[in-house]
Amino acid sequence: MKNFDSTDMISGGAIKSIQEELLIETIRYAYDNSSYYRRRFDSLGLLPSHIKGIEDIQKLPFTNKENIQEDNWAFLAITRQNIAEIVSTTGTTGDPVFIALSHNDLERLACNEGRSFSYTGVKRGDIFHIAVTCDNLFIAGIAYYRGLIKLGASVVRIGPQNIIRHFDLIKELKPTGIVAVPSFIAQKLCRSGENGAYLKDLGIEKIVLIGESIRNADFSANPLGSLIEDAFGKMCYSTYGITEGQVSFCECEFHHGLHSHPDLVLVEIVDANGNTLSDGEVGELVLTPFQIEGMPLIRYKTGDITFKISKPCLCGRSSVLIGPILGRKHHKLKVRGVTLYPQTIENALIGVKGVVNYQIEAYTGDDQTDHIVLRVGSYYNNGDFLTSLNDMLRAKARVTPEVEIIHPMEIEKRLFEGGSRKAITFKDRRFKLYE
Ligand SMILES: [Zn+2]
Repeated sequence: MKNFDSTDMISGGAIKSIQEELLIETIRYAYDNSSYYRRRFDSLGLLPSHIKGIEDIQKLPFTNKENIQEDNWAFLAITRQNIAEIVSTTGTTGDPVFIALSHNDLERLACNEGRSFSYTGVKRGDIFHIAVTCDNLFIAGIAYYRGLIKLGASVVRIGPQNIIRHFDLIKELKPTGIVAVPSFIAQKLCRSGENGAYLKDLGIEKIVLIGESIRNADFSANPLGSLIEDAFGKMCYSTYGITEGQVSFCECEFHHGLHSHPDLVLVEIVDANGNTLSDGEVGELVLTPFQIEGMPLIRYKTGDITFKISKPCLCGRSSVLIGPILGRKHHKLKVRGVTLYPQTIENALIGVKGVVNYQIEAYTGDDQTDHIVLRVGSYYNNGDFLTSLNDMLRAKARVTPEVEIIHPMEIEKRLFEGGSRKAITFKDRRFKLYE
């Protein structure tokens, strides 16, 4: 693998020329080795030689998850003997897709995470408590593991065990950092409050958060982020990763966007018609990962909604930053004329007294428009609680969904229905006529 470690601090112009070289290489490699891309390019009359620079990227077709679902193994660009590991997406949006990694791809993953962690100030001597899934075909846990090891830090690979086990290990092994999903930390926090022992009293200096956004579009903490930062101070670093692209982004100490690694990925933001958007404009995140051997992807539409920032960060790095993930494209709702993402409702519910858990369900009403039912798990079940929930949703999320209050155990069952690896907090039962 070409290691452009110095891309961290080089100028935008130098980054462009590195990316140009890598884009041309990626297109050539995909055409020569992936039967999917060979077929796709041939059908469009496109040749790798037509791509001479970044400006030509718009000539290239997009790839989406459905393309992989339709013919997963046509994306394989190495022989089966050269596969080092197979991972999969969670399958919360349709069938899971499998991604095969070569040995070099695993090394690339470690390089990505090692650099990301170094942006948060992690160094040799730090001990990290990894509280995310490290098995079950999950890429993130192993990526963090390898990245931390590469950086010279020590790792405690616990995974998502029960809270007591976490506390016992934290007290015993005294980690300096934690990798976890934000809602897990929030849950742990409540529990730690009950026990009278806060994590910050246990010597934790950094919390690296994955899978859920902790910031608003202006980078202030959202309710989930506030809950965590109010308790621990500004020690949280947000990251964003995508299994299919084998790539992740991470905040630096300025917490003003998530850094990309320019030699590992090219970032675009596009509108609903696929047109490229400028800095700050909100649209879908499209990624072209570089230097992948196993399953290269070109212009992969992530389905995640955010924006990009190209001007250099205060930390001195010129790599493109992405904003917080504001929602999932396919989850966009239009309720009585108001456009919103389920995440807005979820954010409004965080930290509300009496809300144990919840599930949002969208369906198409008789009037052919989007409707929402919000099921809240709570031990309070009275009119006053319902009224205060409705008032709060109207104020914070600008919606008044139908709200049902049911037993938290019942919600728990619905969240993990069908053995889902992730809690399904949004269930989409709308009619889909088009993408
Ligand atoms: Zn920065």
